[in-house]
Amino acid sequence: MKRLEQDVDVCESRGAAAEDAPIARRSILKIAIAATAGFAVSPPALAASAKRPPKPENVLSPDSALDRLMKGNARYVEGVSRRHDFKHEREVLSKGQNPFAAILSCADSRIAPEYCFDTAPGDVFVCRVAGNFASDEMVASLEYAIQVLNTPLIMVLGHEACGAVDATIKSIKDGTTLPGHLQSLVTALTPAVDAAQGASGDLLANATLRNIMMNVEKLKGLPPILKAAVDDKKIRVVGGIYKLRSGRVELVT
Ligand SMILES: [Zn+2]
Repeated sequence: MKRLEQDVDVCESRGAAAEDAPIARRSILKIAIAATAGFAVSPPALAASAKRPPKPENVLSPDSALDRLMKGNARYVEGVSRRHDFKHEREVLSKGQNPFAAILSCADSRIAPEYCFDTAPGDVFVCRVAGNFASDEMVASLEYAIQVLNTPLIMVLGHEACGAVDATIKSIKDGTTLPGHLQSLVTALTPAVDAAQGASGDLLANATLRNIMMNVEKLKGLPPILKAAVDDKKIRVVGGIYKLRSGRVELVT
């Protein structure tokens, strides 16, 4: 974020007019975030996408965005997913993107958010990590979607039989440390498992739900970008769980 701070400093040291400064800072913030995050978004493209979103149908309220996600999931469940014209979609999206939902999903290969919501390229901004938890990098990616791409909805998407949650339960139970970098997943998921201990029912299912809900709450309350967007009702943050056999996503928050 050094680049970001430097750019803001430059803006301020130029002595921009007081009423213009916030706008100037915001545009530089957008550009700096895009550059820092490695997104191929140039300033003119950003300005253009703000005026003429490549997918006007993706400019939705948070409630409408959620409704569209769930309708897409219903088509996927019923096996009537839409056929996509990828060639045309690539042309439309070559100038920018305005996804209508951001999804923090587990990396599990069986989930595939683009498929399970029957979406096209440019529709969903998907951040994936085993255990679908909001690490700093995931938060930053979601902030990019909200701040720069004007995405109105975030869904934290967990699933049944999550190996990352299961491994965390076993690691805590056996007192073992996982090899390589795997322990970092255990560390991140331990609070959810701890919170689910002692509840009636299946610990894996309870911890999986708890993990989704805890990350939803974390994102909703995280200043400065996400909390402000939630408070201003510009976005909603919801949780969903993917059922492996049916493919159905059930809302949990
Ligand atoms: Zn998983």
